[in-house]
Amino acid sequence: MFDVVINNGTLVDPELKTSFKGSLGIKDGKLAEITTGELVGIKNINASGLIVSPGFIDIHGHVDGEDYCGELSLRQGITTTIGGNCGLSPINMNTFFEEQDRKGFVINQAELVGHSMSLRKAVGITDVYSAANKEQICKMQYLTEKALGEGACGLSLGLEYAPNSSLEEIYAVCIIADKHNRPITIHTRTSSDHDLNSLREAIEISRVTGAAVLISHFVYQYNAVMDKALEIVDKAIEDGLNIKIDSGLYNDWATSIGTAIFCENNVNQGLCLNKMLVASGKYKGERLNKKLYKELRAGNPCECIIYCTGSNESVYKALDKNYAMPSSDIGPYKKGEGHPQISGTFPRYFRCMVRERKEISLIEAVRKATFLPAETMGLKQKGRIKKGSDADIVIFDIDTIKDKSDFPDVGVPDRNPEGIKYVFVNGRLALDGGIFKNSTAGRTIRTA
Ligand SMILES: [Zn+2]
Repeated sequence: MFDVVINNGTLVDPELKTSFKGSLGIKDGKLAEITTGELVGIKNINASGLIVSPGFIDIHGHVDGEDYCGELSLRQGITTTIGGNCGLSPINMNTFFEEQDRKGFVINQAELVGHSMSLRKAVGITDVYSAANKEQICKMQYLTEKALGEGACGLSLGLEYAPNSSLEEIYAVCIIADKHNRPITIHTRTSSDHDLNSLREAIEISRVTGAAVLISHFVYQYNAVMDKALEIVDKAIEDGLNIKIDSGLYNDWATSIGTAIFCENNVNQGLCLNKMLVASGKYKGERLNKKLYKELRAGNPCECIIYCTGSNESVYKALDKNYAMPSSDIGPYKKGEGHPQISGTFPRYFRCMVRERKEISLIEAVRKATFLPAETMGLKQKGRIKKGSDADIVIFDIDTIKDKSDFPDVGVPDRNPEGIKYVFVNGRLALDGGIFKNSTAGRTIRTA
């Protein structure tokens, strides 16, 4: 007898790139049967008229064990999140993994070890604008080696947050990732809206070290120069490099007012204050002016600012690419605050890319949200409809799936989406008929 069966859904197999009417049987947290017939279990779900897909894998997030982030992810159909992006991560991976598994978490978590903020801080670098010295570089290499040995799935760089990191420093840690055959995610060192050298620098890291490189939140970095940026990536792939990209569904990006990205120099040289929207705290929903910029940067460096950029067309262009994956860039905020990406990303992806604009097929959309990120991060049990793989499943209605969140000046950034009916994490029901169950079936994923 199966623990759960899901009958008569449209099953999407992203590995074989097919879909068919059928049923799934779940036992002991694994997919135990896949059939075109009907099954009987202790719990029976009728998925007639619904899509049955592997749970979504959010390849770029900042959940890192934060409960509300976990809930917002799950409500979008995400069953596995990749944390530690943009150079910001736990350093002691063993401790992080043990703590998460002890307390239990709603979704599965794999973790990158982060260079630009975390490794640098761990070796005593306090000035984000300084380059590391030889001794600090050696220590960072040791800590990278240790984190990867303890199961971190890769290395993340957030070069824009430590803009004067030397190439010697960057290559020293990237070589360790390649030695362990792990990918490197790069939040590039963009210096202006039209800067492509930062992209060339990221690609060069793959060329020199041989490592697989994932360029993070591509639209946030290259919105204004999208055609040219995609051409550069296409060419690198043609040359045989292993480059992929992830992108959010919004062109407006968010980060803390106190980071190097919003330094006075960048504001003077091109970042427009009236494009900067406060997303948290007492000025939530207001645009910046000189006075507010100065006040927040000095007194509230952690407050979140959304930088409102140009057209949404570049989002679709990026996500049309077969090497592009949707990603939320979710981070922790108080309830009612933040960027709409934290609750809208994956529903918006299926609504815009598949149902409304028909940019890509349903099967291709599922592949890019499941199997492709699983392959990219080496998650062999995830992102597949296959006997014996982990029973992470999302069941949704492609005709009604919809994001409901909006920017904090016009709407609610963490409003729950519609059309996602059931989510299973390791065989346990975590979203039941659209209702969130505070389940702790998620596990940490240590890369061996
Ligand atoms: Zn980033």
